[in-house]
Amino acid sequence: MTKYIGAHVSASGGVGNAILNAEAIGANAFALFTRNQRSWVSKPLAQAEIEGFKTLLVERGFEPRYVLPHDSYLINLGSPDEETLQKSRAAFLDEMRRAQQLGLTMLNFHPGSHLNKIGEEECLDQIAREINLALSMTEGVTAVIENTAGQGTNLGWKFEHIARIIQGVDDKSRVGVCIDTCHTIAAGYDISTEMGYQFTMDEFERVVGFKYLRAMHLNDSKKGAGSHVDRHEVLGEGTVGKDFFVRMMHDERFDNIPIILETPDPSRWADEIKWLRSL
Ligand SMILES: [Zn+2]
Ligand SMILES: [Zn+2]
Repeated sequence: MTKYIGAHVSASGGVGNAILNAEAIGANAFALFTRNQRSWVSKPLAQAEIEGFKTLLVERGFEPRYVLPHDSYLINLGSPDEETLQKSRAAFLDEMRRAQQLGLTMLNFHPGSHLNKIGEEECLDQIAREINLALSMTEGVTAVIENTAGQGTNLGWKFEHIARIIQGVDDKSRVGVCIDTCHTIAAGYDISTEMGYQFTMDEFERVVGFKYLRAMHLNDSKKGAGSHVDRHEVLGEGTVGKDFFVRMMHDERFDNIPIILETPDPSRWADEIKWLRSL
């Protein structure tokens, strides 16, 4: 099997539980939060929890490179506000360190928002500087930038934004991209048609480059192309549509990376994964 598929599962009760939740839906990849995603500060991971996670991961047959931690929603590395930036910097570093402690190789994050207080380019360059700082204080973990829907003043919805951030990162071997399919269509890349699929993938290759692709968030979208509204939908039941998922499953460019569902109904994840594998 060349496609590694799972979902963003709950880690409530301890990070090890994410492994069991992933196993229960027939996944061979998964995403998780390694700390409370709605709080600035979190207790450090206990040594026993770290060891337990690593052991269970191997025992249940998951490979660390198909596990994709997602950072806290509060973090804004592009924040024009000094106090928020300081808090974001500390929390991001903590997220990177937690990934490293758990023996994982990536941290998935949303680039940031300019809040209409600084220019787009200034904001993107600041994000790159913050990534450099976090990379210099950690080892073996790649910062994986997720494309966004472009809701509000969020950057990262245009492939050009992502390319500019990467350009500012010193160690190109430790920066990557996660394509979220709901965000992609909401941002205005209409991946629902054959032509739109080709165009979008060609654009991604031309502007960013598939060599930076490290992960995928597989979601359908409630809202249409260019809506800039981030509302995930069950696969095949939104504006992205079934044809996209058929094309994607046959596209080798998405082999050997974690493909993570963030669709709204956890009780359907097992069936959605089964369906993808049947394509
Ligand atoms: Zn995300
Ligand atoms: Zn996502």
